[in-house]
Amino acid sequence: MNVRAALAEGSGALGGSSPGSPFLDAALLLGLALGLERDRVLAAMPDEVPPAALRSYRAYIGRRCSGEPVAYILGYKEFYGRRYSVDPRVLVPRPDTELLVETALRLLPRPGTSREPRCHDAFTGSGCVGVSIAAERPDVEVSLSDASADALELASANARALLGRALDAREGDVLSAAVGPFDLIVANPPYVTKALTDELLLGGDAEPRMALDGGELGLDLYPDIAAQAYALLSEGGALAVEIGEEQGEAVAAIFRGAGFGDVTVHTDLAGSDRVVAGVKHAVRR
Ligand code: GLN
Repeated sequence: MNVRAALAEGSGALGGSSPGSPFLDAALLLGLALGLERDRVLAAMPDEVPPAALRSYRAYIGRRCSGEPVAYILGYKEFYGRRYSVDPRVLVPRPDTELLVETALRLLPRPGTSREPRCHDAFTGSGCVGVSIAAERPDVEVSLSDASADALELASANARALLGRALDAREGDVLSAAVGPFDLIVANPPYVTKALTDELLLGGDAEPRMALDGGELGLDLYPDIAAQAYALLSEGGALAVEIGEEQGEAVAAIFRGAGFGDVTVHTDLAGSDRVVAGVKHAVRR
């Protein structure tokens, strides 16, 4: 069987298991089986797929059909221009979350305007948000935390691999492990409703429940995040969190209730509310 036929077979089998991207997923998985990057796979359409590679490829397609994220099968996911190791210890980084990084980068004090700015990334998971900020702004001291020791191990490995140095990483729920004061706190907490989480996990998604399940309305974590962040931020410091697309108003209200000013809701590339940010005491920079 040649590459073209293998891709047709794989993307046909994936169909509904890879909404929107069965062909892309098939090309990534065939690339994994052949030891080729995706563009090389597409350039090799007429070539024969060796039998051993075809067997591996069909096994990968089978795993994907059972709901396993492609990123777990590949062992990595691209985020904000860098490649993160991922496995079932952590949520797979989503493209939507790049908006959290962009918002965070805008909220940080400009380089050279103050002492070394400090930023904390809570619920860090793979580390993708905190590591992206540290990579884009080497002058900022970034720390990470997560309630999962397993996730922190992977986040620390990603920090070392992508930054060439370790970031301070501590185990703790919400912001309990963070040692302030900070100029910026970011978080992508679990915010999927419990009912939808149940549905995703039953559908074969192997991501950790604790990275998805935000309780009945998905809003369980935000009051603690806002209150604890307020206490840990310096005057003029900011909090930015990722949210579900229907949670903008509710989370903005939680921020205001915790004392934040200049509360803004930001939309992602699909036009959905995705990030809420607020400033302590609304001091303008
Ligand atoms: N955006 C993710 C999803 O829709 C959820 C991430 C999260 O809960 N932080 O699956």
